[in-house]
Amino acid sequence: MKALLVLSVIALLLFPACVQANPAKPALEVVVLGSGGPRPFGRAGSGFVVVVEGTPRILVDAGPGAFLRVGELDLSLEKVDTVLLTHLHIDHSGDLAAFFNARALTSDGPIVYRIFGPDGEGLFPKTSKFVDLLVGDGGAFAYQKTFGADESLAVRDLPITLNSARTKIVDEGGGLVVEEIATHHGDCPSVAYRISYKGATVVFSGDMDASAVPNLVQLAKNADLLIFNCAVLDPPGSPSQLYELHTPPKKIGEAALESRVKRLLLSHLAPDVEGQEGAVRRSIRASFAGPVEFASDKLRVTIGK
Ligand SMILES: [Zn+2]
Repeated sequence: MKALLVLSVIALLLFPACVQANPAKPALEVVVLGSGGPRPFGRAGSGFVVVVEGTPRILVDAGPGAFLRVGELDLSLEKVDTVLLTHLHIDHSGDLAAFFNARALTSDGPIVYRIFGPDGEGLFPKTSKFVDLLVGDGGAFAYQKTFGADESLAVRDLPITLNSARTKIVDEGGGLVVEEIATHHGDCPSVAYRISYKGATVVFSGDMDASAVPNLVQLAKNADLLIFNCAVLDPPGSPSQLYELHTPPKKIGEAALESRVKRLLLSHLAPDVEGQEGAVRRSIRASFAGPVEFASDKLRVTIGK
């Protein structure tokens, strides 16, 4: 016992940092799981994990490759209880069942998810039906709900018309806040999300065409970081039909300026965008003077102190 005490004292003398309090963790961090879109060229499809004071809490989209990146990053999923889906294209949702699977195997206790995503229209089911088709009773992976841990899911379908009001969907009383607003992504219902914690704020545009810029500007006002999906070059650099789905760099720059965000991270990169980084930067720089970064898989970005 005495020897143990002596050893402890020596350890404290040699490593005084041991007795100092852990340095404060950043309020928010974003880990990029996938910085690509639907084309396979080395980047995973769109996906992010938001880390709140050092603890991964929120999954934003689950594109193909999310499962692999979670493992490569050795991310702890034990406290992930919130899933935000921007829309239900495969490159944003294809790995959702695999993510549930990965999360279930990190936990013995019951898991309660709150899941948000757009209402349905046309070929796209509402998010609650989508989740049901995957893991609900009679769903393709109905076994998942009791595989590894008991899961319960509360799914909320969000309004999808551009005149819908910005809405607060998570409010942990002085802690984490999540807000959303409808966007527009061709014929695919879509929403954008704003996550705030202790004065730090990050906004995810999801995929959206330029008709949704006013809504995004409203949601992103004064955010520390705007993650904007950048899938096309300025016209006429990309196939014309893509402008009905995505916002070109010039308009991304204008949106960043108008919303007064501090930093811009471009994600959901397409091969032609990746190859024209200089032109994309110049186009954005025409309006937005703040830092502009290009995302890569496994990038970790700190937001706030
Ligand atoms: Zn996409």
